[in-house]
Amino acid sequence: MNNNLKSWLKKETSKCMFCGFCEALCPTVRFGSHRGYGPRGRINIVLYLSEEGKYTHEALNSLYSCLLCAACTLKCPANIDIPEVIRVARSLYARNNLKEKEEVVIEKEVS
Ligand code: SF4
Ligand code: SF4
Repeated sequence: MNNNLKSWLKKETSKCMFCGFCEALCPTVRFGSHRGYGPRGRINIVLYLSEEGKYTHEALNSLYSCLLCAACTLKCPANIDIPEVIRVARSLYARNNLKEKEEVVIEKEVS
């Protein structure tokens, strides 16, 4: 992960008080198999990722099922920019994933 963005993610997600007020406005929370499909769960997952956690299949489902609608931000007492947190976490995943794929291609071309 890019260190500046990673630090920003950690700072932003650490503001969460786990109150759950955001969940009442989220259109996706009731469709998932667990709370990772709502804003509080997504914030927790990104906090874990910012502390060297791994992007699992389930974490990616959670991040990519977010509609980025920002409804959750209307009720967040900590003023966390939840859609921006999700966007940054997705972009870091895409960047890391592309880098790994590029390295595989380069290794194949060299060998
Ligand atoms: S931005 Fe994502 S987490 Fe927030 S209310 Fe919309 S779908 Fe839910
Ligand atoms: S409303 Fe804000 S502080 Fe409360 S759980 Fe949701 S993201 Fe965390």
